[in-house]
Amino acid sequence: MSCIEPSANTSMQPRSPQKTPVERRNGKHVKMNDIPPEGVYLPNNNFMAPHMKSPEYVQLSNAAAITLGIMGGRMYGCECTRCLNLLLTYPEGCRANCAYCGLARHREADRDYADRNFIRVDWPAVPMAEIIDIVAKDPEASPFHRMCISMITHPRSEEDTFTVLKQWTDRIDPDAIPVSILSNPTTMKRADVRKCRDLGADIFTVALDAATPEVFDRTRGKGVQSPHKWSKYWEILLDAKDIFGPQKFGAHIIVGMGETEREVLELVQELVDLGGHSHMFCFFPEQGSLMDHLPATPRDQWRRVQLARYLIDYRNVRIDHMRFDDAGRVVDYGVPGPELQAIIDEGIAFRTSGCPGKFQDDISACDRPYGDSPPSDIASYPFQPKKKDLKKIRRQLDIPVRVE
Ligand code: SF4
Repeated sequence: MSCIEPSANTSMQPRSPQKTPVERRNGKHVKMNDIPPEGVYLPNNNFMAPHMKSPEYVQLSNAAAITLGIMGGRMYGCECTRCLNLLLTYPEGCRANCAYCGLARHREADRDYADRNFIRVDWPAVPMAEIIDIVAKDPEASPFHRMCISMITHPRSEEDTFTVLKQWTDRIDPDAIPVSILSNPTTMKRADVRKCRDLGADIFTVALDAATPEVFDRTRGKGVQSPHKWSKYWEILLDAKDIFGPQKFGAHIIVGMGETEREVLELVQELVDLGGHSHMFCFFPEQGSLMDHLPATPRDQWRRVQLARYLIDYRNVRIDHMRFDDAGRVVDYGVPGPELQAIIDEGIAFRTSGCPGKFQDDISACDRPYGDSPPSDIASYPFQPKKKDLKKIRRQLDIPVRVE
């Protein structure tokens, strides 16, 4: 079992971004060719990516495209996904340069935006009208429990999010399929958050991603020539708390980018104290990203954080009930042994975390199959872990569970 100690600052250092040749900057290559899109665009299928942009086009996750019937294929262990994850799309792509992200700006040097991998999978581009036509036929019977619009850093991001959201809520009752917004605060104002709510969004999340200001700056701020600021992300997160209210806002956090377990759990506690939730991802070295040379989060570290986060988010355990060692690792979850055993055996703590669907509050609609690990070494389970999975999880938890 790997026991690499998470040390702050240096051990998870991204590569420096290289300069993009002028002829590849800002999607110039795609815009100059100006090939009109025809229907669904499957990444890497064409010689050149067509000129597609939101709000007419959006990208959607592989799992969502399979569930929607737009693409063939199967996913290991999952029949379908319960969340229709949409991503805004433009030839010039995201203008930020986050070190762990497959969509980052530096990738324009060698890959058109519509062809880039993101959280380990391809994202086909589809006309928004086609998606709505399929789902609007019978929203109540849809496999989707939720729809989510992911913004990127782009000058049109807010306006196009509003348009996509309005197109959806005009035809699909948000009570039948609620909508989440995964925001990109850098270009947003408080009024934009309010407009998302007024147009029918149910939950508003902020892709904070980094657990501390230092990790944030190193992986998605000045450290990689990216425009994001920790303070701006918090400003919009607090706007979301005011506007959307308790249990209707949250933050995405990636575990294993150099923070300690204690640091990430302090953030989880802070979000719960504010009335929100954390949605967690295990760091995985995305191919082509500025961190693709670094190790994925050791499974023992990830499992402890997953379990502790679940206890704080859903079982009223507080971080001050827990104990940590000198390296900030969890050594006591603050729960009596038999209770902890039962929670581990339920397995929900180890499933993908995210906005809820229609099953129960602590089961996420958004299961992001294999978005943070390969199926051979699952980090977030996109399905209910079975007996053999729980056995593996128990081994990975590494610290013997205290039995009273
Ligand atoms: S802002 Fe989001 S999409 Fe853009 S590079 Fe950063 S993580 Fe990726």
